[in-house]
Amino acid sequence: MSRQRAMRDTEYNPLVYFIDGLVTLFNGMVVTWRNLWRPKITVRYPYQRRPVPPRYRGLFYLKWNEEKQRLNCVGCTLCAQACPTDVISMVKLGKGTHAGVSEFTMDLGRCMFCNLCVEACPFDAIYMGPNYELASERRDVSLFRIADLAQGGEEAVRKNIETIERLLAEEEKAKPAHAAHAAGGQSE
Ligand code: SF4
Ligand code: SF4
Repeated sequence: MSRQRAMRDTEYNPLVYFIDGLVTLFNGMVVTWRNLWRPKITVRYPYQRRPVPPRYRGLFYLKWNEEKQRLNCVGCTLCAQACPTDVISMVKLGKGTHAGVSEFTMDLGRCMFCNLCVEACPFDAIYMGPNYELASERRDVSLFRIADLAQGGEEAVRKNIETIERLLAEEEKAKPAHAAHAAGGQSE
């Protein structure tokens, strides 16, 4: 039978209640004293940050390709189609082998961080990184544009557009010469 039950069943005795209160207080102080000397496990966020696991799925980034001097994204929209909550939209730039994007927007207020968009991308272009801080008092802060997402920020976006436009212009310039060459080959 528990001590409380025993006390309930016996006649009211103030001394018993007083001693019981003292014992309870003493037990509580023992627990406090013991924990006072234990190593602290509290993380003082945001002054301290614990490292996230290597495969953590946090905020997104668009991968910069140093060799090609452009983002890997070709604007195929497969990620947007795979997204169940309509988070992703983009503006495509160019077509064919030199296709890319001039804008890529993600409204992370609607994102479930399910990773389906990353899985759907066949061009190694979009990833989820270790950053996780999205809280803000501003509503528009969940809207990430291409410069917020691209590895390298504004500068990477500028170079990405420059590279794609240069390649498209070169392709366009090579077209008449190629057509004339083909026509010459036929008439011979
Ligand atoms: S993680 Fe899921 S919800 Fe978020 S953008 Fe990708 S597919 Fe959409
Ligand atoms: S991120 Fe990948 S799937 Fe999405 S548009 Fe770019 S290349 Fe296509």
